[in-house]
Amino acid sequence: MRQARATARTPPVPSERAAAPPAHPVAWTELSAEIRSCRKCPLGSSRTQAVIYRGGTAPWILFVGEAPGVEEDRQGEPFVGRSGRELDRAIARLGLASQEVGIVNILKCHPPANRFDPRAARTCRPYLDRQLAILRPEVVVTLGARALASFDPAAPPVLASAGHPRPAAGMALFPLIHPAAAMRSKRWRERWDHDVGVLAHWLSERPFVNPFNSVPAR
Ligand code: URA
Repeated sequence: MRQARATARTPPVPSERAAAPPAHPVAWTELSAEIRSCRKCPLGSSRTQAVIYRGGTAPWILFVGEAPGVEEDRQGEPFVGRSGRELDRAIARLGLASQEVGIVNILKCHPPANRFDPRAARTCRPYLDRQLAILRPEVVVTLGARALASFDPAAPPVLASAGHPRPAAGMALFPLIHPAAAMRSKRWRERWDHDVGVLAHWLSERPFVNPFNSVPAR
């Protein structure tokens, strides 16, 4: 699905692989450059590199996580550590091709000790909004409570919301628990597997426009 990952000994290299969606390559490249040079919050100085995007050039389904972890900070791409392997298994189970999928985080920089900083998230949010405006996904799958709250603060808590699609401005939200939770206990593993199954069924019933069959005007 994705290129083989670097080994644990590979030194950090600033990623240039934040793919440019063909409809807006200039806007995407400019946005990526802005994120890479961002120092609007302290995370901009403590990170190794910004973590911007992983996925296809015209994704209709976007997975949104919370913040890059240590491995993401090292490799420069979202969800390339243990949670990423869990997420990739789910994406494969959904029958989605890598070109159809995009993966981002709310925070573009790794927070020390993985401590999610709501203030940094507010500062960073416009970058996610600009990514959404360029990518224009039909479905956003939120991963975990913070990603859900960032899209829909009025949504019920993540355990009540996960597995139930919700309308959102111009798209559909499908909340899931965070894939890291699935690795923590049998109970969360069952919940994750169940909700991914619900998502698979829901996707199979929706008449999505596949951008590879019919490129929408953007
Ligand atoms: N967890 C996240 O929320 N995002 C990542 O990129 C990795 C782990």
